[in-house]
Amino acid sequence: MKPFEYVRVKDARQAAQALGTERDQAKILAGGTDLLGEMKDYLVTPARLVNIKTIPNLDKIEHDDKKGLKLGALVTLSRLAEDKNVRERYTALAQAIDLSAMPQIRNAATIGGNLCQRPRCWYYRDEHTICLKKGGSKCYAVEGENQYHAILGGGPCYIVHPSDPAPALVALGARVVITDGTKTREVPLEQFFILPAQNVRRENILAQNEIITHVLVPAPAPGTRSVYLKEREKDSYDWALASAAVVVTPNAGSVGAARVVLGGVAPVPWRVAEAEKALVGQPLNPATLARAAEAALAGATPLEKNGYKVPLAQAVVRRALSLTMA
Ligand SMILES: Cc1cc2nc3c(=O)[nH]c(=O)nc-3n(C[C@H](O)[C@H](O)[C@H](O)COP(=O)(O)OP(=O)(O)OC[C@H]3O[C@@H](n4cnc5c(N)ncnc54)[C@H](O)[C@@H]3O)c2cc1C
Repeated sequence: MKPFEYVRVKDARQAAQALGTERDQAKILAGGTDLLGEMKDYLVTPARLVNIKTIPNLDKIEHDDKKGLKLGALVTLSRLAEDKNVRERYTALAQAIDLSAMPQIRNAATIGGNLCQRPRCWYYRDEHTICLKKGGSKCYAVEGENQYHAILGGGPCYIVHPSDPAPALVALGARVVITDGTKTREVPLEQFFILPAQNVRRENILAQNEIITHVLVPAPAPGTRSVYLKEREKDSYDWALASAAVVVTPNAGSVGAARVVLGGVAPVPWRVAEAEKALVGQPLNPATLARAAEAALAGATPLEKNGYKVPLAQAVVRRALSLTMA
């Protein structure tokens, strides 16, 4: 690992100063479960690590019946999933965390770090491959081993977004609070992530000197049910081959409102308005589920080896929706 300077900061202003403005010269350190692996593999080589875990009060889970959930960016995944209120009212989020990594990682990993973790594409993670994302001239997945890559929203790079909590939070309508210590902005999580076509080197809109301080999740409307389901290759721990977060609010025997967000199939959590339209105003019966699942994947353009993701993701959407009735 390249030697680096280590700084502890007490607030966002100090963090912004320590992070500076030169891209990737300094990196934010939270739980370190992703960043340190990247540094050991020389995928990133910051001259300075800025430990934000010393900023007070960013490790709180706050509930308000009307306003909803306010999560400090330093809340660990395990604390979040253990929270009774989160499990009952924001079920998809708790389920997504249960299906993320393993207990040792969840005990250290923070929700802010989870949303900013880097992709797991094996070409990106290979120290010796200089792909587009690392400043090279080629996405090796296009003609290579692309079985785990994007079927939606890909190009010129075909990563899939790695976070499980992210699709659940997008489906639940979450917003992120971002600050550089002077200016603070609140952004829908859906707009926080960016596609490779927008910037192939980055996965989100954060400026070099900005940190996420909070994640805000609105209180669900009465009767709302949410579910997160994930298919992976092995059960011990694994990233999603395909996943779905669905949030359904019933209205007089049919669907009043719905949000459908796919994971593991696109470079960002992939919200599908077409699937939502197929649900609203309809009874949640097998025909509606089938129409919504088909609509969810209608835009898919698989690569040579990942066509299996289309029926897999359709099945996950159908099953997740059917579980909102259970
Ligand atoms: C073996 C293994 C299996 C895994 N499986 C899964 C899985 O199935 N599902 C899943 O979702 N995840 C999985 N993960 C990823 C894991 O959830 C992330 O590594 C973790 O959530 C990152 O959080 P952290 O606090 O450790 O972040 P760090 O490693 O400290 O940081 C990660 C990135 O986020 C940035 N960052 C951290 N905090 C902030 C902040 N507040 N504001 C702005 N930027 C910030 C850092 O600079 C860095 O770039 C797995 C990881 C491992 C090692």
